[in-house]
Amino acid sequence: MVEKWHEFLDKESIHNFDIDGHPAVLGIALRMSSLEYFLLIDGKLVEADGKGKKLFGKSSSQFLETRQKWIDLGKAKGLEYRPTSNTKQLAYIHRVIGRIDDFLVIIQAEKKQFRDVELSGFFFSLKYASIDPERIEKIKNDQIISEICKDWQMGLDQISPTGLVLFMKPVPNEDTEEDVFEAFSDFIKAISIHVRPAMEERCEGSPCGSSIGQDLQVVLVNGMPIILCQEYEKHITDMGKKAELEYHETPSNLLKGTLYGIGGMLLGSLPWVVIPVIFNTVYPVFAIFPLAATQLAMNYAKTKRNFVSLLIASMLAMVGSILGTYLSLIAFWLRNHSWIFDLEQLRELTQRILEDSRIMNDAINFSWLILGLLFILATYYRHKELKRLFHPEIEVIPSFKLH
Ligand SMILES: [Zn+2]
Repeated sequence: MVEKWHEFLDKESIHNFDIDGHPAVLGIALRMSSLEYFLLIDGKLVEADGKGKKLFGKSSSQFLETRQKWIDLGKAKGLEYRPTSNTKQLAYIHRVIGRIDDFLVIIQAEKKQFRDVELSGFFFSLKYASIDPERIEKIKNDQIISEICKDWQMGLDQISPTGLVLFMKPVPNEDTEEDVFEAFSDFIKAISIHVRPAMEERCEGSPCGSSIGQDLQVVLVNGMPIILCQEYEKHITDMGKKAELEYHETPSNLLKGTLYGIGGMLLGSLPWVVIPVIFNTVYPVFAIFPLAATQLAMNYAKTKRNFVSLLIASMLAMVGSILGTYLSLIAFWLRNHSWIFDLEQLRELTQRILEDSRIMNDAINFSWLILGLLFILATYYRHKELKRLFHPEIEVIPSFKLH
């Protein structure tokens, strides 16, 4: 039977089914380029007959070991092991859900897409009774919470009035599953002074608020646990539409952003002018530095990230690169002319720099290349981010008992 699966399943996966009332799990694990199979019935491993071929191997045993650890740790904390069904990699299938100090919590092994890097780690989701925006700010600025986050290398991924999601990036070969659970326990203790457990007796879909107790369920919306009724798909579509409307109604702050951006650009490009003065050598000022400072300043001015604001940031960065390089060349020349300031000579020099200067050409060419690439990437990630916001990923956690 296992051999047949091979024909059409060539990716890591887990399949849950039932054999005469006994829960069974068929797993397919990838090792180098070949596949391993394992079968669990009633949680016990059944050796599969692979016609002389060894089917069960290192990847499978590693997976089962980790799985057992999650089950045991979950049990110790009163959490149920509920693996996800929507992943292609066994390493990211583990998940526990339940209550710690009455809070609904979920711990999940996951990958987080951060810009163009994929980080492997853990998501912690915590649900609490509704809080106001000031409380959210207090949580963000809480000293003890930020220390715990720093100690365990975790950060706030999302926070809303009714829940939050943390991402923890464990130290490789150091942080164990035990540490992951401990980190979350520490966090819950620290946040307990700000939030209390939610009652979870009403559908959170607006304007539903249905309280017909039995049909409420936990739905993960982009990883954030939300209590919804059977109409959850409609509710989530509404949430996406609301987010889209809010996004379009948010002011773009383009003028303020541009002014701040100019300030940032100057701060990001002018310090490099000091280099020729101190070291008596000139380097081109690449746009990457003014760009970083420009974007920080524009973010500070709450500029909406869109095509136009990204374009303005890129243009400012280009100006920063040219301006910084030009002033560096002038500073270099002045330093070697005993700082004697002659307007006529300066004008001639400016003309020479603009017409033919290898350093200026390097600065411009390299900056175009970098800015072009970053612009494409930024546009792409913004598009992805908005898509996630307007059309969130959803997963229903079936038959999890609410209060
Ligand atoms: Zn509802």
